[in-house]
Amino acid sequence: MNRPAVLASLVVTLLLGAAPALGQPTTAREIASSAPFRSAVAAMDADYERIVDEIVLLTEIPAPPFKEAKRAKAYMAMLRDAGLSDVEMDAEGNVMGLRRGTGPAGGSLVVIAAHLDTVFPEETDVTVRRDGSRLMAPGIGDDTRGLATLLGYARALDKAGIRTRRDILFVGNVGEEGQGDLRGMRYFFAKGKYRERVETFISMDGSGATNVVNGGVGSKRYRVTFNGPGGHSFGAFGLVNPLGALGQTVVDLYRIQTPAKPKTTYSASVIGGGTSVNSIPNSVFLEVDMRSEDPGELAKLESAFLGIVSASVAAENAARQTTAGSVSADIKLIGDRPAGMTPPATSIVVQAQEAIRAAGLTPNLTYSSTDSNIPMSLGIPAITIGSGGAGGRAHALDEWIDVDKDKSLPGMAVGLNILLAAANG
Ligand SMILES: [Zn+2]
Repeated sequence: MNRPAVLASLVVTLLLGAAPALGQPTTAREIASSAPFRSAVAAMDADYERIVDEIVLLTEIPAPPFKEAKRAKAYMAMLRDAGLSDVEMDAEGNVMGLRRGTGPAGGSLVVIAAHLDTVFPEETDVTVRRDGSRLMAPGIGDDTRGLATLLGYARALDKAGIRTRRDILFVGNVGEEGQGDLRGMRYFFAKGKYRERVETFISMDGSGATNVVNGGVGSKRYRVTFNGPGGHSFGAFGLVNPLGALGQTVVDLYRIQTPAKPKTTYSASVIGGGTSVNSIPNSVFLEVDMRSEDPGELAKLESAFLGIVSASVAAENAARQTTAGSVSADIKLIGDRPAGMTPPATSIVVQAQEAIRAAGLTPNLTYSSTDSNIPMSLGIPAITIGSGGAGGRAHALDEWIDVDKDKSLPGMAVGLNILLAAANG
């Protein structure tokens, strides 16, 4: 090698070796004022109508729990169209596409995910209604705008020629909402092909730009079916009644004192059963939701509840005749979300708050129950952020978002900054 060649190779080595320092900014504050980031935001600005069109298109494809496939297929095509590689659907129904960074193939990566599912049943009218800059439809803010925003990010990064250090995996996942019980992310982190490579996980869920969810509220949900012999309301009077045990369970549950901090809650939410007004029922059921910011408090509440169920059954069997049979409880766990937390000092939590401040906003660290619960419970740094603009009435038929560009774009840019900080830091 002659001298100029050695020199050139040294320069190349230096440039590559020190890529984050010389090439691109790595902190949210530096990113916010960097030329490549500004050019990516300008690209989103120019692309904005398309992003809105994609929000509408995706919202109008119904995606009830366990029936996300149609929307997932459409989203998969959009991921491909946004220039991502390795676009695929996994065995659980999550769809994803990779944006390669400058790091080694198969190295650590950042996941940014929005959920495909809504809480609404299949027959719900999901036609988007427009009133000025306000769009209304079930699921539009939670979480369809997030899905479309991710596509906007992928295109803007290409347009601005940004190569991140780590790979970024863009994911549209299934099963975030209630009955889904986080099945999409559960699969992703238990069996998915990228599970070992996740350095940071970002869930984009819901509206707004200032919340950083770094705590995952854990929940346990039960359906308890109380069974008994049943009988005629008049003729069999005196026999045990499963509804007596159910009623006692609710009364005693509501005597439990839970701490305000860590916030711990319960709700007797759904009841059903019985056959007719003139019959002692042979079967009634109760559904209960219990949540806590702290796994220990949740476990305490859960065991108190289960104790109440058996005490109420015993009390009913002691209070009335069991000659035709006694009351029993069939206890079924119908929801189980692990609690978890990404400590405030973790880089992603610090950078997310910096990105929000750099946009002139005030960050708010908070707890919620989202897809991030799964990585948090595994000790993988994870946060959940909003998709930027204003919105409201999530989980209601009159759910809305405001797509006014001047108000939405700065918030969307915050999310992109957070993503870049995670991918370059
Ligand atoms: Zn959501």
